Amino acid sequence: MELNNKNILVVGLAKTGVACARFLAGRGARVTVTDMHDEAVLLPQLAQLAAWNIRKVLGRHDEGDFTGADLIVVSPGVPQDHPLLVKAKAADREIVSEIELAARFIDVPLVAITGTNGKTTTTTLAGEIFKANGYRTFVGGNIGNPLIELLESGELVDQVVAEISSFQLEWITAFRPQVAVLLNLSEDHLDRYADYQEYIDAKLRIFKNQDESNFAVVNRDDELVWKYAQGLKAQLFPFSRRQELAEGIFHRDGVIVYRHNGREECFPTNAIRLQGVHNLENIMAALACALLSGCRPDDSFEAVQGFTALHHRMEFVAEVNGVRYYEDSKATNVGSVEKALESFDNITLIAGGKDKGGSYTPLALLVKERVRHLVLIGEAAGRMQAELGHLTDTRLATTLEEAVTLAGHITEPGGIVLMSPACSSFDMFRDYEERAERYIAAVKRL
Ligand code: ADP
Repeated sequence: MELNNKNILVVGLAKTGVACARFLAGRGARVTVTDMHDEAVLLPQLAQLAAWNIRKVLGRHDEGDFTGADLIVVSPGVPQDHPLLVKAKAADREIVSEIELAARFIDVPLVAITGTNGKTTTTTLAGEIFKANGYRTFVGGNIGNPLIELLESGELVDQVVAEISSFQLEWITAFRPQVAVLLNLSEDHLDRYADYQEYIDAKLRIFKNQDESNFAVVNRDDELVWKYAQGLKAQLFPFSRRQELAEGIFHRDGVIVYRHNGREECFPTNAIRLQGVHNLENIMAALACALLSGCRPDDSFEAVQGFTALHHRMEFVAEVNGVRYYEDSKATNVGSVEKALESFDNITLIAGGKDKGGSYTPLALLVKERVRHLVLIGEAAGRMQAELGHLTDTRLATTLEEAVTLAGHITEPGGIVLMSPACSSFDMFRDYEERAERYIAAVKRL
């Protein structure tokens, strides 16, 4: 793809936009960046562009930049139906996401991982497995370092492992992973998509350009995933916690069994440190990616055994007066909270935050059976109370600190206090990490 002297518009100036602008300018393109935030807000980003000759249109978007560009690179935060993108499309402008742009220049095999939950855990683990097999591996994407940073750095690698969000898949045309993973599907991001189906369709695009030489690693136990997997062109490679598979990877009686082309490998799970049924799924998916790409079973499993949980995903905080406190700040949707509730009994659940528009009722049965007390915070508290409040003792708190103190009072020794919000954090906190830190500090004060 020729970039020299091309007139390229980068829309959105967060981390991804900055990396794209620099990469494009470095390849001789005439780059314009545009963002609705103004200069004062974007000072850190602008500092990173200071060395480059890049035109900036800030605090507004100009229609002519969209309809006149040779290529538009859209950041993941910009909705697909943005009126100026619609106009650009009507004017026949080429529009791509950052992963599409990067993939056009990456010439090593790519493993891409998506799903509503478990992406970061699975991507990180798969990266560790490739590294343990001696591959020079770049791990990136939605995980925090855009793929384009690999190209910018010029680093030589043998393998790319990418976490991919639905937003990034919106503007792809040729993006084709050798191995693509769909971990699960449950309602999320309904504040951005018109409906659940539109979100599912975006996720499924990860398989769009694959052919028979590629693999689609899919969750056999997730009915929706399995249904949509049936029409794919790539070779299907399912994983399952519930059933034996002739071709695929599954768990049975404490052993993970990998079967491919008549070959079988067995891995005992008793020495694995990563806990929780959902993590068993993540481990099987990560192992499948690596083994299908030619990694050695023994080195791969050694990496699995050495892997521990990432922060803010069902992490133990402390025990106070016989009550164990856990923090699951990364649980920003109903699907992830379900797994957290499945993992404990006798729970005081602290939930709530910024409402993403989905229904909370899929949690009803688990709340009824396992949640003794429900303490709600944030913007979503009212709606959660209406949908779940009648199922258990439910209270409202105005701050997270108040919620923790209240939970400490009402939870009996032997119980669990779990913050697993089912919402994003942006109503009260900078991000999920700040929410986690505030929770941990409040628990420590007890
Ligand atoms: P993502 O990157 O997709 O947000 P993470 O690995 O960061 O996934 O985990 C996010 C949340 O989802 C955490 O609360 C975690 O405990 C939960 N989780 C992790 N893996 C799974 C899974 N396979 N199914 C359901 N929930 C999961």
